[in-house]
Amino acid sequence: MGQKLIGRRDFMKSTLAGFGGLFFLPPFNTKQEIKLVEAKGKEKKFIYRTLGKTRLKLPVINMGVMLTDNPNLIRAALDSGVLLLDTAHGYMQGRNEETIGSVIKGRPRDSFYIATKVGLPQNRTTGLYLEGATTEEFLKRLDISLKRLGLDYVDILYQHGVSRKESVMYEPILKAFELAKKAGKIRFSGVSTHSNEPEVIDAVTDSKVHDVILTAYTFKQKHYQEVRKAIARASNAGLGIVGMKAVRGAFQQQPTTRNIVASFKWILQDPNVHTVIAGFTTFEHLETDLAIMNDLTLTEQEKMDLQKEASLPGLYCQGCRQCLGQCTEKLPIPDLMRAYMYTYDYRNIAHAQDLITSLDLPDRVCEDCSFCRVKCAIGFNVLKKIRDVAWLKKT
Ligand code: SF4
Ligand code: SF4
Repeated sequence: MGQKLIGRRDFMKSTLAGFGGLFFLPPFNTKQEIKLVEAKGKEKKFIYRTLGKTRLKLPVINMGVMLTDNPNLIRAALDSGVLLLDTAHGYMQGRNEETIGSVIKGRPRDSFYIATKVGLPQNRTTGLYLEGATTEEFLKRLDISLKRLGLDYVDILYQHGVSRKESVMYEPILKAFELAKKAGKIRFSGVSTHSNEPEVIDAVTDSKVHDVILTAYTFKQKHYQEVRKAIARASNAGLGIVGMKAVRGAFQQQPTTRNIVASFKWILQDPNVHTVIAGFTTFEHLETDLAIMNDLTLTEQEKMDLQKEASLPGLYCQGCRQCLGQCTEKLPIPDLMRAYMYTYDYRNIAHAQDLITSLDLPDRVCEDCSFCRVKCAIGFNVLKKIRDVAWLKKT
C-alpha cells in the first residue's frame, strides 16, 4: 500500500511538525449558507454546505445513528433540523434501520435524507471480497434494508467498509449499484472507509462511478494530511464528502464536551468536508453537537487541547493496516482493535460483540503463541487489547 512503517518516536515527531504547518488550516471562503432554524420555539444557527454533485444542501452536522436505537433521540434530531440520518444494513443486526423506519414513517419524504450501507463478505486481513460477495447478495441486502426502513429508495447507498482500491472496483458491486440506480432504489452511490482511507478515496475519485465518500477523518490520524489531500482531490472532482469518526477513539480519556466541540471544528475547518455525522447518544449531546454551528472557529484553548492530545500516543487503532500480515494466526487485528474501541471508548458492548461475532475467530484466540509478533505502528500493546475483548466471543 506504499505506506512506510512509522515508529512511535517518528509518529510523535511528525505529529508535532504538523502543528506549525497544516494541522490548523487558515480561515477559508467556502460556499456555505447560514440560516436560523426554529425548533421547539428556539432559534438555532445552522450552517449548510452542498454535498458535491448530489446538490443536497445539508447542515454541517448530521446524525450517525449507529450507536442508538432510541427513536425519541432520532425524532428529536430531525425535529431540531438534522436532515441526514446515517445507518447501515449491519448495525444492530437490522434494528438500527428498523428504528429509523419507525421514526420516519408518516414524515414527508422530502423532509429528511437517509444514507445506509451494504457490505459483503470480505477477507478481514486482505480487505478483498470473498466468494459469496455477489451482485445478487448485495441487491438482496439492499431490499431488506429498504423494507426495514419502510422506503422505496434511499438517498445514499454506500459500499460498506472498504479498505482496498481493488475492492472499490469490484465488478459485482459496481453492477449492483448500476442495477439499483436503474431501478430507482438509490439516488446516489458512494463508498465508506475507515481504514487505508487515502488509497480508497483516490480509487473512488478515479473510478468516476460514485457521488459521495464517507470517510474517517480526525486530528488524531497520523496520516491526516494524506486523507486531507485525497479528500481535496475527490471534492474537486465533484464528489460529496461526509466525515466520520471525528471524535471517537481520539482521546486518552472519555472526551469532554470541550473535546467534542474542538474535534468537530477541526474536521469542519476543511472546506472540502461538506458535512459530518455525529454519533450522539443523549439529548444533551445532540444539543452540544448542533450548537457547534454557532461558530466553527477554533478557539486558542481548543487548539491547545487538540495539539496536546495529538502529541500523545494513541489508545485506539487508527486503521492504518501496517500490522497486517504480522499475526502468525492471521487474526484481523484492525477489526479486533475496532471492537476494543467500541467496548472501551464508545462503551457499546452490543456493537463490539456484533463485530467480534462477524469475525469468525478461532476457538482459542492468542492462546497458542509464546510471544506476540504484532507491532502496532503507534506503539500500543495489541495482545493486551485483544485479551481485553476476547471475552466478548465467549459470552
Ligand atoms: S499473540 Fe499476537 S501473533 Fe499470536 S495470535 Fe495473538 S495477535 Fe497473533
Ligand atoms: S493496530 Fe496499530 S498498526 Fe495495526 S492498524 Fe491499528 S494503528 Fe495501525
